[in-house]
Amino acid sequence: MTNTISILGSTGSIGRQTLDVAKQLGLRVAALTANSSVERAEEQARKFRPCLVVMTDEAAARDLAVRLRDTETRVLGGAAALEEAAALPAADTVVTAVVGMVGLKPTLAAIDEKKRIALANKETLVCAGELVMDAAERSGAEIVPVDSEHSAIFQCLQGCGNRREIRRLILTCSGGPFYGMNTEEAGRMTKKDALKHPNWTMGPKITVDCATLMNKGLEVIEAMRLYRLPLERVDVVIHRQSIVHSLVEFWDGAVLAQLGTPDMRLPIRYAMTYPERAESPLEPLDLLVCPPLTFSKPDRRTFPCLALAEEAAVRGGTACAALNGANEEAVRLFLAEKIGFYDIFHLTRKAMAALPVVEHPTLEEILEADREAREIVSKEHLA
Ligand code: NDP
Ligand code: MG
Repeated sequence: MTNTISILGSTGSIGRQTLDVAKQLGLRVAALTANSSVERAEEQARKFRPCLVVMTDEAAARDLAVRLRDTETRVLGGAAALEEAAALPAADTVVTAVVGMVGLKPTLAAIDEKKRIALANKETLVCAGELVMDAAERSGAEIVPVDSEHSAIFQCLQGCGNRREIRRLILTCSGGPFYGMNTEEAGRMTKKDALKHPNWTMGPKITVDCATLMNKGLEVIEAMRLYRLPLERVDVVIHRQSIVHSLVEFWDGAVLAQLGTPDMRLPIRYAMTYPERAESPLEPLDLLVCPPLTFSKPDRRTFPCLALAEEAAVRGGTACAALNGANEEAVRLFLAEKIGFYDIFHLTRKAMAALPVVEHPTLEEILEADREAREIVSKEHLA
């Protein structure tokens, strides 16, 4: 069980819920990081008294340093300081709850220090899954997933000593806010429509990814990397109620699933207490009042980002970094209301097609693919 945590991205949706769990479990907090949410960072620092707070935005860091003058908390600015926060000796677990590829280097820094990684930042595994998993194997750092589907699989695999017993992982998918629409209807959807998720309240980037089903595509890649399985062994089913969080099918035909009310504090808590479980104040699932559980096939025609991510997974190498970088940039443009819903798919596909795949890439090659993919998207949208 964890005693002291550092949170990368403490002011976001996962970061704030992690602090809730930390309070419930009585965990100490060593470092917090945010981009520019100064007020929230100040409030968190006063409450949890970390030794370090990093703001990647330099002006925000200067502002926070003034606000926290009367405390013992040190404040640093800039993206490089994220690595310092991630490697801080006092923490035994680092919760990676920043959004996007910016989480990669600090995750590697925490792995080098053999910290437990409570991994929410899926973009890291999508872009550099092999590098991250190899580094963790070398250093002995545990990676405990926080993403609800991967936490469900991780929980189902407790007691499974041999990964070769797995026939298939089945990731469940809520279908997002545009479930049931055809391409014409989905094409009219705006930022406002996309930000209404039926079952979860999350940061804006992942909420848009849920609407395009890119999120599920990223999660397929995340699962492939975490459990070192090929694409044929990772399936997706639509499950509107978000109660069955995912399933594992074994070769003997047994299928294990993890169920629970949709609340991210459950997988966050498990990543803290693993391999133990601690009593939680959350309402448990009541099967007698929960809605009927239904399952269906995803609609890859209306939501082509899922198939695009699967294609990147098959291509391997830097293809996933290109997919992710292009998608991050396209979602940024969609959130700025500069492009439409299907432009996210078209621009990401263009960037992927334009970039050659480098097999077994180094960190530099991954960062380069990410940079180039973003550049293609930002140029193409103006063309
Ligand atoms: P949010 O947008 O709510 O929070 C993001 C956090 O990262 C904030 O603390 C933000 O700081 C910080 N941040 C943003 N940009 C940068 C940057 N360039 N450099 C450093 N820090 C930055 O995201 P979520 O909490 O929703 O998601 C976080 C991660 O967890 C994502 O990878 C997501 O896919 C994953 N995840 C989220 C789930 C959820 O339920 N929310 C479920 C499963 C996975 P600031 O507040 O200052 O902007
Ligand atoms: Mg998920």
